[in-house]
Amino acid sequence: GATIGMVGGGQLGRMFAMAAARMGYRVGVFCGSSDEPAAKVAAFTVCGPLTDHSAIEAFAKRCDVITLEFENIPADTIAACGKHAPTYPDASVLAMAQDRWTEKTTLREAGIPVAGFEPVYDRESAIAAGDLLGWPIIVKTCRSGYDGKGQHRLNSPDDAATVEWAGAEGGEDGQPPWVAEALVPFEREASVIVARTLDQRVETFPVFENDHQNHILDETKLPAEVSSEMQAQAREIAMRVAEHVGLVGLLCVELFVTEDELIVNEVAPRPHNSGHVTIEACATSQFEQHVRAICGLPLGDTSMVVPAASMLNLLGDLWQAAEARNASPNWEACLETPGVALHLYGKHAAPAGRKMGHLTAVGDDLPEVSQRLHLARERLLSELG
Ligand code: ATP
Ligand code: MG
Ligand code: MG
Repeated sequence: GATIGMVGGGQLGRMFAMAAARMGYRVGVFCGSSDEPAAKVAAFTVCGPLTDHSAIEAFAKRCDVITLEFENIPADTIAACGKHAPTYPDASVLAMAQDRWTEKTTLREAGIPVAGFEPVYDRESAIAAGDLLGWPIIVKTCRSGYDGKGQHRLNSPDDAATVEWAGAEGGEDGQPPWVAEALVPFEREASVIVARTLDQRVETFPVFENDHQNHILDETKLPAEVSSEMQAQAREIAMRVAEHVGLVGLLCVELFVTEDELIVNEVAPRPHNSGHVTIEACATSQFEQHVRAICGLPLGDTSMVVPAASMLNLLGDLWQAAEARNASPNWEACLETPGVALHLYGKHAAPAGRKMGHLTAVGDDLPEVSQRLHLARERLLSELG
């Protein structure tokens, strides 16, 4: 069979590799160390820094097609891969998604609804941005942020003095290091995953509803409690983004749902944490769809195979809470809960906030499913024996 190259060794790469292996592909992983989650399930691993073009080109030569699992890969590294094998998404899509300024301007140009935003370089421009957008604002570093890292909510001009403005770097061509956004008064958050092939076939997953805790995704629920009109609009927006940037592969669009509109927060050209629920809930998982999209296969059926499903993340905090009691998470108690699927990513260290695994449950009724799943997670900290 053909060999797929995956750049990045995290859990997204791991679950992609598992889906690809099931479909008969060999997956090679390029990452920092052979101990990373994806490396442990790969057919082969090449280790090196993402800036080492000779190592990555040697890797690319062994692959028939290449993809990635996180945005913060230097665009010229992905371009170097492209000399040896088709690389999806390509460097231009990656460059768009890895810089919030480029991302937001690209989306706005495409007529996609985004929150008002302004460039920020320092305290003065942050205050000017807040005066233009209306306080409060959220300022975000344009590059490298995830799980809310590098973000500050500024309630008033005074708050602008509390941020270390020199601590962020802008993109090329004098792009701003920070972007200020108007605070969106959303009722809920949602996401849509879209797949697109080289020959421009496109398919979206049903809309997921997402709950965050401390800026980190906590729970994804399906179906979303959003009107069917808005769900159709959200899927339409995701397709428009995919077409506008010429995506080949998989892309997730994160949305704010207000009382009467949809506003795009950000996009990620890769499998997404909210899409993990598709493994159990949909006819085709996001990972299988990613394989299909980059390999030019027919795209799979994205419809739900159950009436309701929910996914809960397992963060390092849980391991720490168990350790504080000289114990490990109580897997037996957790898995006693009926209809709960466990996914662990094979990470050793469990610092607070680190995504270690997730749980999924399915059923007929979403409130019941979600309640059962929360119970399963709580049981991880119940007494042993
Ligand atoms: P990740 O990539 O892990 O999703 P991130 O660091 O890129 O996270 P964002 O998705 O931009 O961060 O923001 C994280 C969360 O903060 C959002 O899901 C939302 O809950 C809140 N948030 C971000 N921007 C806004 C905004 N303009 N208005 C209201 N809430 C916001
Ligand atoms: Mg992000
Ligand atoms: Mg986000």
